[in-house]
Amino acid sequence: MRPIKLLPDGLISQIAAGEVIERPASVLKELLENAIDAGTTDISVNIAQGGLKLIRVTDNGGGISGEELPLALTRHATSKIASQEDLYRITSLGFRGEGLASIASVSNLLLISHQPGGKHAWQIRSEGIRVMQPEPSSHAAGTTVEVRDLFFNLPARRKFLKTEATEFAHCEEIIRRMALSHAGIAFTLRHNGNLRGHWQSAEAAVRIKTVLGEEFTRSAAWIDERSAGIGLQGMLALPAYSRAARDMQYFFVNGRFVRDKLITHALREAYRDVLHLDRHAAFVLYLDIDPEQVDVNVHPTKTEIRFREARAIHQFIYHGVSKALSLPRSGTELSQSS
Ligand code: ADP
Ligand code: MG
Repeated sequence: MRPIKLLPDGLISQIAAGEVIERPASVLKELLENAIDAGTTDISVNIAQGGLKLIRVTDNGGGISGEELPLALTRHATSKIASQEDLYRITSLGFRGEGLASIASVSNLLLISHQPGGKHAWQIRSEGIRVMQPEPSSHAAGTTVEVRDLFFNLPARRKFLKTEATEFAHCEEIIRRMALSHAGIAFTLRHNGNLRGHWQSAEAAVRIKTVLGEEFTRSAAWIDERSAGIGLQGMLALPAYSRAARDMQYFFVNGRFVRDKLITHALREAYRDVLHLDRHAAFVLYLDIDPEQVDVNVHPTKTEIRFREARAIHQFIYHGVSKALSLPRSGTELSQSS
């Protein structure tokens, strides 16, 4: 046995990065969450070679000051929470202060930011765990994060990555989720220089149509349930539009995409009588609830959550969805009337 020793900080970051940064799409998720938390109205994403070579996200949000750039790349440094009470009423997508530090430790990163009102932009670079000094730069109000050569210093991880096409498909799925949950934000996606997606700021029904297609919205019922401070809105495909896979199941809690056993169960129960056993439902649902009623600090990637009143939530979703499925109203009808 070797003696017990404290690990160097860079190695700690790389170990932590293993939990959140699995592939290019995980980097993209962290960067999009940061842009959204910064209050952006317009996000532009550039990807090269499925994200293995480059992932660049530009926003027009609140930015980071020059002095704070090194902190942005430091583990456990965040502007989103400050106390234990904050942890139990999270309203932002991020709060762990680990995203950028994790990404930086396993890539070559460039962060450029210009705070509206600041004289000029500042930038900071890092090569793996080596972080340089901030320098003056130029950039419109907002932030660009450029991540190159993901896992260049972790060849074992890099070997697990799939083809460029597969990695890009995972990135596209992340953008779809963000676009579906943030209809008011404009998104542009380019891959290897080619335009692959552009969604203008829109109301939810229109955004759902442009992201998932008219065939889905035409066969879907709108749901709008509200009770005791909880809201459930969105679109549910009627049984005729069932799918062979669970590839069109989007559930958001307070704007965050989640996969939750309780929610899945409530939905499966509600669809049970109308859907054949080997078919899967398609839906985009938004649950809005008091942040104090959910614990999002369950898993590093934050796609798992815990509800304080689990039974009540299950009932609410089950009844709301059952009702919507028995009173079909077409989605196109709704988007025309509103
Ligand atoms: P977290 O999002 O959990 O706070 P991150 O490591 O992702 O942790 O980001 C660290 C901090 O850097 C954030 O709290 C925020 O203050 C700042 N930041 C990161 N990205 C952006 C951005 N695009 N615009 C403005 N500030 C940002
Ligand atoms: Mg973050």
